[in-house]
Amino acid sequence: MAPSTSSGARVIALANQKGGVAKTTSVASLGAALAERGKRVLLVDLDPQACLTFSLGVDPDALETSVNEVLLGAVEVEGAVIHCDDGFDLVPSVIDLAGAEAMLLPRPGREYVLRTALEGSRAAYDVILLDCAPSLGVITLNALTAADGLIIPMPCEMLSHRGVGQLLDTVADVQKILNRDLEVWGVLPTLFDGRSRHAREVLADVGERYELPVLEPPIPKTVRFAEAPAVGRSILATAGSSKGAQAYRQVAEVLLRRL
Ligand code: ADP
Ligand code: MG
Repeated sequence: MAPSTSSGARVIALANQKGGVAKTTSVASLGAALAERGKRVLLVDLDPQACLTFSLGVDPDALETSVNEVLLGAVEVEGAVIHCDDGFDLVPSVIDLAGAEAMLLPRPGREYVLRTALEGSRAAYDVILLDCAPSLGVITLNALTAADGLIIPMPCEMLSHRGVGQLLDTVADVQKILNRDLEVWGVLPTLFDGRSRHAREVLADVGERYELPVLEPPIPKTVRFAEAPAVGRSILATAGSSKGAQAYRQVAEVLLRRL
């Protein structure tokens, strides 16, 4: 049986087994937007490619403690946390998170490891955002088991929603077996080209076809997002008044109403 949900932080996973759909960008930007609004925010990098960690100016190769030790139960979340300039905390990843995945596999209750690890930190935060790897492996199952809400970042392009059915099947299994409380909060449209009618149509179609809420506004495609990781900050710090940053702030407001 799942451990009971305790009070404190709401845990939100951003997952999509496709890469390049702006999961990591959305975690950093929403995290910064929620921190701006005075929320105590923790981000957890669950991707062995450590892109979130890198993009926030942390060198994964120089870390002694990471999400790996947390997942393996060697340290508490507190012991791995880094305070970031954007106003949130980060549990960083290292490149061999794939190693953690392999080490978790033979363990009983392997899907509950992250949930259990976060229990002790829920009181210290208002929101915990989980940045998932582009896979539906055991670490992503851990994220879905730990989460109250799931957000599915999705570019507004033809075919970008292929695979959503598979993700929703996994969610249904998780709800049945691992985490009855998991709710799909919605699709977050990303890389949105406002000039394209096609993009709007794709968006409307996805919401209807899968009966999913669509979180608005869509996040516009802008070159500003490519610049932010180079200086180790989110786009809210590097281009705070840009359309992309404003869109993430508005989505953060939608989330705040739900928290
Ligand atoms: P994922 O975590 O799903 O693999 P990322 O957040 O790493 O996706 O984003 C993939 C790439 O797209 C990155 O190079 C990122 O800078 C870029 N990107 C993300 N959002 C936008 C956007 N709104 N406009 C332009 N580029 C973006
Ligand atoms: Mg990513």
